[in-house]
Amino acid sequence: MEAPLCMDCLNRIMLCPACQKKFDDGLITALEMQIARILYKLNPNATFKHLVETEEAVIVLSEKKMLGQIIGQGGANLQKLRDFLGKQVKVLGVDDFASLAESLVSPAEVKSINKVFTKNGEKQKVVVRDGEKLRINSVDVGRILEKASGLEVEVVVE
Ligand SMILES: [Zn+2]
Repeated sequence: MEAPLCMDCLNRIMLCPACQKKFDDGLITALEMQIARILYKLNPNATFKHLVETEEAVIVLSEKKMLGQIIGQGGANLQKLRDFLGKQVKVLGVDDFASLAESLVSPAEVKSINKVFTKNGEKQKVVVRDGEKLRINSVDVGRILEKASGLEVEVVVE
């Protein structure tokens, strides 16, 4: 996984052929491009992998070591992103599937994560306990985990 836009495209309006192709192929969204450019102005060292919009919030997915750079001193960058989007913004690390799943379902709990085999290959089955406590609905949790991991994910709520 790489950052949504290359360094050149963070700083100008036109896209280079490589980034244009990623956009045309649906690998990056208009919102990801917009946020990548805003974040670059706030902190040129801050990069993220993906951005997923849910009804409640915008989830920024990044490497764990980048979290502080994205959030900024005292949460300053995060506040600017919130103001811009008019929505809650959460920044989560994608390095570890299990801890990302735990963060997404909190204060509900991950009961189990298992690899199950399907007709088309395999998928990660995430079983959530105390589903009524979910703050992000289970469909969105699955969508975010798929985007972060590149794996097929099924979320089952108990
Ligand atoms: Zn580019």
